Amino acid sequence: MKQLDLVIHNEAGLHARPAKTLVNLAKTFNSDIKIKHGQKKVNAKSMISVLTLGVKQSGQILIEIDGADEAEASEAIFEAVKSGLGETLPTTNGAQAIEPLEPEAVEPAAVEDATDENRGIGASAGIVSGPVLHWLDEEFELPTTHLGGQAEWSLVEESVQGARSELEALVEKVTADLSAEEAEIFNAHLEILGDPELLSTVKDKIDAGSNGANAWHAACNEQAGVMSQLDDELLAARAADVRDVSRRVLSHLLKQPLNSKIISEPSILIARDLSPSDTAKLDKKMVLGFITSEGGPNAHSAIIARALGIPAVVASGAFVHDIKEGATVILNGGSGEIEVDPSEQRLTEAKEARAIQIEAAAKALAAAGERAITTDGHRIEVVGNGGSVADCLSCKENGAEGIGLLRTEFLFLGKESAPSEAAQIEVYRQILETMQERPVIFRTLDIGGDKPVPYITVPNEENPFLGERGVRLMLNHYPELLKTQLTALLKAYQASGVEKMAIMFPMVGQVAEWRKAQKMFHAVAKELNISTAGIELGIMVEVPSAALNAHAFAKEADFFSIGTNDLTQYTMAIDRQHPTLAGQADGLDPAVLRLIYLTVQAAHAAKKWVGICGELAADPAATKILIGLGVDELSANTNALPALKARIRECSKQECEKIAQKALSLDSAAEVRALGQTS
Ligand code: PEP
Ligand code: MG
Repeated sequence: MKQLDLVIHNEAGLHARPAKTLVNLAKTFNSDIKIKHGQKKVNAKSMISVLTLGVKQSGQILIEIDGADEAEASEAIFEAVKSGLGETLPTTNGAQAIEPLEPEAVEPAAVEDATDENRGIGASAGIVSGPVLHWLDEEFELPTTHLGGQAEWSLVEESVQGARSELEALVEKVTADLSAEEAEIFNAHLEILGDPELLSTVKDKIDAGSNGANAWHAACNEQAGVMSQLDDELLAARAADVRDVSRRVLSHLLKQPLNSKIISEPSILIARDLSPSDTAKLDKKMVLGFITSEGGPNAHSAIIARALGIPAVVASGAFVHDIKEGATVILNGGSGEIEVDPSEQRLTEAKEARAIQIEAAAKALAAAGERAITTDGHRIEVVGNGGSVADCLSCKENGAEGIGLLRTEFLFLGKESAPSEAAQIEVYRQILETMQERPVIFRTLDIGGDKPVPYITVPNEENPFLGERGVRLMLNHYPELLKTQLTALLKAYQASGVEKMAIMFPMVGQVAEWRKAQKMFHAVAKELNISTAGIELGIMVEVPSAALNAHAFAKEADFFSIGTNDLTQYTMAIDRQHPTLAGQADGLDPAVLRLIYLTVQAAHAAKKWVGICGELAADPAATKILIGLGVDELSANTNALPALKARIRECSKQECEKIAQKALSLDSAAEVRALGQTS
């Protein structure tokens, strides 16, 4: 057996990202690998167990490796931990670790004020009022009987299998109703269901005399409990996912249906916390909004509420459980305010505010099929972002004139192996046929950074967002995969009979990368003898160098699509997922706007067009500024499309140009945001 005595220097300790790197690395070895921290010792191949260790910066861990490949494993793990498990270590010239800062509390003011002032955290915008309906957690009565170790374990296995089938169906439903992105939440639930450590803890408990239901309940509770105590807000939010998986399996073990309270009149639900799967199944006609006493804005239930457009306030504190069933409340999902038993006047005001919101949304939706033309006759093409056929259908219903960003990696995520050429052709063809004359821009596989897949090994790097990612990873390490994807796209194009299609490459930073990718595309087309007429080839502008060198790219690329999510993170040097800094990475920062402007000027000089496909495209404060900078196309998530078109129709291009020039002259994102909101 090999042992490694190591210190974790990562600034936030062994949190989700480095833990995932370590777990994925451990899984590549056959040896039994355990991590010991304090009194706890866990399986290094179990993500949830490693997270529950709660190793902070400077925490000591002991890794025990036992098996045939222990020497290689030991060396690889040593190197990986030493180099920061995919993160940059806070060291000076590799020497002294910087003193850890006190971890910043993430939203204390809002929550603390909340309880006094009946306020929680706004998690999904919209003002609604209505009668309260308390949504109670199921009470599972755990049996005291014991059928014998093997029989109890078989029951657990059957129940896990039953839960697996339900979750697979839920993944399909959510992909169809919402999007592939939200469906990923339930793919993560499937991962929890198969977590080796969770299952072995259950087995140990059964062996020690517990029955299956008690063993399962206790094992999940222990893990969720530890996770919710961790300092990391995002990790704490994941405890809700473990609890959700737990109750799903318990419902099978106990043959008791999950909470299925019938909601017979439109109501505002109050719950301790809503599970992601309950949220995904809410009927929008009956659930006006919901309030939870616990939870957080980053929890998956909040993400789903936003996708469904159901107003929600979370983390409001326990007072909400004392509100009488049937009492009227006003919920403001933007500000987080909750008013109990409001006066008639307040109720009227809230109803008026809601009516205005609904009317504006309905008007925007009714007009969504029309073009978005400014008051002075300038057309902006409004297209949608998606990751599946269902997303495309939804975008079309909401007025998308095409798909500005088809994130093809959603076809690759959550799978054990890469989809075959035939499988890819089928999906791409369906997408093209769904959209018909509305052009689709397929982005080639964007793996790396925060989007890992099991069959693509991303080199272990200190700083993966600055490393082998997107087109770099494909060109340098997986050219065959990129070739297969381009082949499938070309064959799907030919089979669909549509007249237009576009392909763009992510994370292009240098002209040489673009040329390599472009050359590969033309070589594949030549080999297949498929005409490329009608196909536009472009680049995503996500790396500042691509914007700064746009004049060079503009000579060769047909178009640019600016990925403001990444462009902002690379311009500001702030990780887009950073738990405390990400809020400062605002795409409205004048630095980012300058890069957008540079790209537009270079593109237009070469008679090429520019779109925006990052989140900024949907941001109401950005619409006028982006139009004023000369952007030709805006690509946003399906829910944002009708309102985006409505906003464009209220603008005058001339006025937008003035606003954009003013924005470029300002000093900070906050000033630009204020300008965008008030002009
Ligand atoms: C972007 O970076 O803005 C973008 C649209 O790509 P993704 O968010 O998929 O990285
Ligand atoms: Mg990107």
